[in-house]
Amino acid sequence: MSIRLKREVMTADVLIIGGGTAGCYAALTLSNHSDLKVIVAEKAGIRRSGCLAAGVNAINAYITDGQTPEDYVDYAMKDAAGIARQDLLLTAARRFNKVTADLERLGLVILKDETGNYVTRGKRNIKINGENIKPILADAVLQAPCHSLRARKYNGSSCD
Ligand SMILES: Cc1cc2nc3c(=O)[nH]c(=O)nc-3n(C[C@H](O)[C@H](O)[C@H](O)COP(=O)(O)OP(=O)(O)OC[C@H]3O[C@@H](n4cnc5c(N)ncnc54)[C@H](O)[C@@H]3O)c2cc1C
Repeated sequence: MSIRLKREVMTADVLIIGGGTAGCYAALTLSNHSDLKVIVAEKAGIRRSGCLAAGVNAINAYITDGQTPEDYVDYAMKDAAGIARQDLLLTAARRFNKVTADLERLGLVILKDETGNYVTRGKRNIKINGENIKPILADAVLQAPCHSLRARKYNGSSCD
């Protein structure tokens, strides 16, 4: 049995290949800060694709009270046996908590103690109800203004 693929020529300012965690967040960032037209090319169903597909129960990249981005860089460099870009790690670590705040605003449930602080699970981890973290992220992408963003799977579904 042969399958006929539908061909379509699309144009965009930015093509993001892979609508996993990084791809979705990149698309959202572009949508929030520019009028660029973005295409997310995802080979699977974007709501349940990639490493976060089944959900996670913690965010493992968070700067908890008493810790610094530099502490995270030290940990990550050791964990990677030195095979990592220290400068890139530091840039990322300085933004971890902002990204977490963005996800909470989108609807991610982050566990809090009786004083309202996030519940930690170690020095760099906070507990979340993350079974729907990928659908939350993907839905935000799909709902972003279509004039600047189109999420499209190879099978042709899109936000328009
Ligand atoms: C079992 C497990 C548990 C984890 N637990 C946690 C946790 O508790 N806390 C935490 O913070 N992190 C956790 N992580 C890590 C975190 O999930 C990943 O670091 C993160 O999701 C990686 O995002 P990514 O966008 O780089 O890759 P992915 O999310 O894997 O995205 C890649 C995307 O690209 C698509 N793709 C691939 N090839 C193509 C192609 N040719 N064309 C189009 N699309 C393509 C894939 O379908 C996928 O959607 C866990 C990871 C795993 C595997």
